[in-house]
Amino acid sequence: MKKIIELKQVYKDYPQAGTLQTVLHDINLDVYPGEFVAIVGPSGNGKSTLLNLLTGIDHPSRGKICVNGTALQNLSNEKLTQWRGANVGIVFQFFQLLPALSLLQNTVLPMDFLGLLSKNQRRERAMHLLELVGLADAAERLPSQVSGGQQQRAAIARALANDPPLIVADEPTGNLDAATADSVFDLFAHLRDQGKTLMMVTHNEMLADAASRKLEIRCGRIHTDTSPADTF
Ligand code: ADP
Repeated sequence: MKKIIELKQVYKDYPQAGTLQTVLHDINLDVYPGEFVAIVGPSGNGKSTLLNLLTGIDHPSRGKICVNGTALQNLSNEKLTQWRGANVGIVFQFFQLLPALSLLQNTVLPMDFLGLLSKNQRRERAMHLLELVGLADAAERLPSQVSGGQQQRAAIARALANDPPLIVADEPTGNLDAATADSVFDLFAHLRDQGKTLMMVTHNEMLADAASRKLEIRCGRIHTDTSPADTF
């Protein structure tokens, strides 16, 4: 099967206190379509940096990153932004919805950016996605007028707007109480069942246990890489 993510000898250095600190060392990783990968490990060990490289938000210092058939290290920032809009849906810990736009407008936005559908089709699709995440009644509300859990569900609808094959999430339940986290968990389980590829940094054990594969990152290296079958 064709890989959806391929990292070869990837390193990331950041300048810190006048020197270069290597925060990711020699990362080699293959992910296949439909995998749900939970990325776990202590804070400050490189998990978010790894996600930022996969989405092209940040660049590797060395090595090769290929996602959905595109070599990211060769793309300009402008091309990366276009590529990301069509290929990756991103869900952040703090939702990052635009505060002046309704949930519906926030969900339409990635489709406006891609420009593939008519205005009516974009609105219809956004409504459909908000229904899917249980927010049809709140579509016209601003992010500040709904709860954190509802904002995160709207952020998931927005991430699905362009039907990307890959969903990347950075601690998507990190800012939610347990009950609200459960409803967000159900949505990710639904996406997993639909065959989306999911890469998720999480401290939530239930989410990590729902994954088909667990990557543990320690000191900027892949410390363990296990599928449930490996643990028996
Ligand atoms: P985690 O997600 O595991 O908490 P991060 O990937 O956020 O870890 O951070 C790994 C290391 O990289 C930390 O030491 C952090 O301070 C450093 N780091 C992350 N982003 C930057 C940046 N933009 N500039 C400098 N250092 C950074």
